[in-house]
Amino acid sequence: MTKPRQSVVIVGAGIGGLTAALAFARNGAEVFVLEQASELKEVGAGIQITPNGARVLNALGLVDACAAQSIAAQAVQPMDALTGRPVTRFDLTTRSPAYRFYHRASLQSMLANAAQKAGVGIRLGQRVTSVTAQGTVDTSAGPLHADIVVGADGIHSVTRDLFGGPKAAFTGQVAWRDIVVATDAPAQAQIWMAPHRHVVTYPLKGGLLNVVAVQERADWAAEGWDHSDDPMNLRSAFSDCAPDLQAILAQTKAPSLWGLFRHPVAPVWSKGNVALLGDAAHPTLPFLAQGANLAIEDAYVLARCCAEQTSVPSAFRRYQQLRRDRVVRAIAAANANAQNYHLSGIKRSVAFAGLKALGAVAPNAFINRLGWLYDHDVTR
Ligand SMILES: Cc1cc2nc3c(=O)[nH]c(=O)nc-3n(C[C@H](O)[C@H](O)[C@H](O)COP(=O)(O)OP(=O)(O)OC[C@H]3O[C@@H](n4cnc5c(N)ncnc54)[C@H](O)[C@@H]3O)c2cc1C
Repeated sequence: MTKPRQSVVIVGAGIGGLTAALAFARNGAEVFVLEQASELKEVGAGIQITPNGARVLNALGLVDACAAQSIAAQAVQPMDALTGRPVTRFDLTTRSPAYRFYHRASLQSMLANAAQKAGVGIRLGQRVTSVTAQGTVDTSAGPLHADIVVGADGIHSVTRDLFGGPKAAFTGQVAWRDIVVATDAPAQAQIWMAPHRHVVTYPLKGGLLNVVAVQERADWAAEGWDHSDDPMNLRSAFSDCAPDLQAILAQTKAPSLWGLFRHPVAPVWSKGNVALLGDAAHPTLPFLAQGANLAIEDAYVLARCCAEQTSVPSAFRRYQQLRRDRVVRAIAAANANAQNYHLSGIKRSVAFAGLKALGAVAPNAFINRLGWLYDHDVTR
């Protein structure tokens, strides 16, 4: 007997929600996405999609679109932010599919276009105010009901309210991000490391450079990406750093500033007809470039479990079994990087000497060490 067509409502048209919409639609479901924003306009920023996330995008038929919308990364280059000298250079070209740098807005509109072509309805300007375990979603435009509701509504998820659970804690770190002009930046991510601070830069299509800077601090800043800060604060945090880095930061005009919070991974990712994915289930610190990649993986696995299992509860159980341990491991690795990038004194000198030696004898070491992360293929 064929299964009746599933109806799916997805809360949030971010990267995770749109990937889920496309994956569910490709599996034959009737899908609506509800997005609070009145247009799909991501705040200016870049995003790195690593081979594990790229495999999902490829499996969803986006190989050519991905190549057209992004820059293939050649290397990651740890830098001494104080001297401006490279510590080493790790090659990123040995893995397939490629590690890529995107403008977020391009990735989001690529996913939205593909989802709409696959029959997904995207309803903008519809804020979800509450969700019930039975699959009823209250929105600013009235209630909706579906066989499956997916909470892909990000770090401040309303859907997660249904689950309760522990609160986030401030990490003692704040981050700025901005985009500056850089017409000849090489296709590599540079990690500029200084005591108690770091900056990550990488190029975006159109002659731009994405800049994310992190500083340890005692005072709290709000969580979220839309709080703007005076660029002088960012510059003065790195005023003792090398001229090359200062020249990049001197170009920032309107950086956003936010506090970094450590969130416990949700112990349970589903209740009744409702499942969580991406940042709604497991926000991560941005020190391994995995938040969106994990959301993309979640989306694919969730849609496949729902297509293959005979009931919604068994699909959701399987989804969590397949995902939770991997997500916990990735988040722990991101947390560890926060410390590795900010070393001072003798620990810093020893770590730099180790990195230099490693880069000289094993230029693939960076990507090999993260083989468990990048080689994972949720589409198999
Ligand atoms: C500086 C920085 C750099 C990063 N770099 C990387 C990187 O290089 N690679 C990477 O993989 N990850 C990166 N991340 C993490 C990544 O951005 C997030 O993990 C990812 O966007 C999560 O996707 P999501 O779909 O779960 O949530 P989001 O992208 O946050 O999307 C949630 C969507 O839900 C909508 N929404 C929220 N509430 C409601 C509601 N009540 N009703 C309707 N709609 C709602 C929002 O408007 C939004 O569109 C970075 C994060 C930061 C802060």
